Amino acid sequence: MVNSISVLGCTGSIGRQTIAVAEHTGIRVDALSANRKIDLLEEQTRRLHPKLVAVFDEEAADNFRIAVKDLDVRVVSGMEGLIEAAVCPESDCVVTAVSGSVGLKPTLAAIHEKKRIALANKETLVCAGELVMGTAAKDGAEIIPVDSEHSAIFQCLMGREKKELKKILLTGSGGPFRGRKRAELEAITPQQAVKHPNWNMGAKISVDSATMMNKGLEFVEAMHLFSVTPDDIQVVVHPQSVIHSMVELVDGTVIAQLGVPDMGLPIQLALTYPERKESMFEHLDFTKLQGLTFEAPDLENMPCLALAMNCAHTGGTAPCVMSAANEVAVHMFLRGEIGYNRIYDAAAAAVAAIPAVHTNDLDEILAADREARSFVKAYFA
Ligand code: MG
Repeated sequence: MVNSISVLGCTGSIGRQTIAVAEHTGIRVDALSANRKIDLLEEQTRRLHPKLVAVFDEEAADNFRIAVKDLDVRVVSGMEGLIEAAVCPESDCVVTAVSGSVGLKPTLAAIHEKKRIALANKETLVCAGELVMGTAAKDGAEIIPVDSEHSAIFQCLMGREKKELKKILLTGSGGPFRGRKRAELEAITPQQAVKHPNWNMGAKISVDSATMMNKGLEFVEAMHLFSVTPDDIQVVVHPQSVIHSMVELVDGTVIAQLGVPDMGLPIQLALTYPERKESMFEHLDFTKLQGLTFEAPDLENMPCLALAMNCAHTGGTAPCVMSAANEVAVHMFLRGEIGYNRIYDAAAAAVAAIPAVHTNDLDEILAADREARSFVKAYFA
């Protein structure tokens, strides 16, 4: 179990839940980082007394420094500040809950310091899976997944040998538009897209869940985390989100992890692992479950998932390009600048236009990420 954490992205959905878990389990919070909801950041800083707070935007950092000048806290800014928060000497674990590829450099810096990474930033493994997992293995840093599906797979594989694993069964709810045709989704609004049936999450990931790009990103993530090939992973739609994923073993046995759909559970395990602690979350009552159902994903009407699976097969920078293009398109959709179905169009066009490069060089990876972002802006200009 960890003693002290740095929380990157502390005002977002995962960040806030992480702080609640830390307070419940008596884990210290020594560094915080945020780029939005600065009022909340101040509230958290006054309550938790971290040693260091990173505010990405320089001007916002200056204002924040003035707001908390009565406290004994150092305020830093920019990518350098974010990295400082990640390698804060007091903390033995970094929760990477920032959204987007901005999480990559701080995660690698924390790995070099042998800190436990409680990984909640999908883009880290989607963009640079080989580099990040390779560096963690070399430097001896633990990576514990926070995403509910990967936490489930991690738990199903505990104490098992790799050769026992036949395949990973990655489950997903299918999102709010399960069963709908792509043509019917043309006029979907951001308000409709962010209403997830089971999970309460931030806006970007909620849209990704609606398009099933989220499952696609998780597919790539699972490949790297558990060092398997795309053929070893099967996506299974399970609308109730009670099973959080499963593994099938070579003898045909299937092991599943179940629980209430609350991100607090995988967050707590990532911090207390290998121990388990009493939690503040609801427990499952099997007598109240209305039944668990399963179906194959509809790849024709959820083409983002098919695109991600293709990019997983291609490898190299293909998933990074897809993820960066998707990120830009989702934010444009949330601002009302493009229609819902254009998100897939933009991601697919970027993947088709930008050749995949097989590299473990961070600068080359980040260049592919930037190229994809510029591509989408030009695509809609
Ligand atoms: Mg998930």
